[in-house]
Amino acid sequence: MLADTEVARVLSITAHPDDVDFGAAGTIASWTDAGIEVVYCIVTDGDAGGFDENFPRAEMPALRRAEQVAAAKCVGVHDVRFLGYPDGRVEATLELRRDLARVIRQVRPDRVLSQSPERNYVRPGISHPDHRAVGSATLDAVYPDARNPFAFPELRDIEDLAAWTVREVWIAGGVTPNHYVDITETFPRKLAALRAHESQTAQRAGLADFLRTRLARTAEAAGLPAGHLAEGFQVLDTA
Ligand SMILES: [Zn+2]
Repeated sequence: MLADTEVARVLSITAHPDDVDFGAAGTIASWTDAGIEVVYCIVTDGDAGGFDENFPRAEMPALRRAEQVAAAKCVGVHDVRFLGYPDGRVEATLELRRDLARVIRQVRPDRVLSQSPERNYVRPGISHPDHRAVGSATLDAVYPDARNPFAFPELRDIEDLAAWTVREVWIAGGVTPNHYVDITETFPRKLAALRAHESQTAQRAGLADFLRTRLARTAEAAGLPAGHLAEGFQVLDTA
């Protein structure tokens, strides 16, 4: 596994506004604190989200983009890119793989963070079809698409984007985590990031307690002392 000191840039690729904050915002805060540049790529605008029937649906994409940009700032991320795919209808198509390979070649990250392509039978709510599609397309974009100069040749020939090899992928929300990050200190910023997604979290009165309970359970699985909070990942060597 790469030490954080070997990592200059991280690219996070997730399906919806708020996914990265539920799964990894505490970890991301520790990365940006360490001077790592983190870029978010959000595949949809979350336009099928929210709870307020009276809020005009046509305005939801702009609202959710703004919420994600505000949430990113809470953990030191200032570069947020949206691909504008329709919420609830994402598939791991060649088009999505090309779009993700493009972002990978533009950002040139050492580490990519994404979602799990596998269905989690213990926590089915984490395995939204969009999450699985984005997780799958991201892994395909990391290997082979972004690193193979002959994959999607238009990226190189027309857009002048050279092939790029991502050395490591971190999967959040997976079935088989093999690495844990202690986020006890950064938890307040993770909570602030989640609260920035007001259209999603304002109605959840017990949000902080819900998160603390879940993250404490993860910390326990990591073997951390009582009172600690952690996020879990499966880390893949993709060098
Ligand atoms: Zn989601």
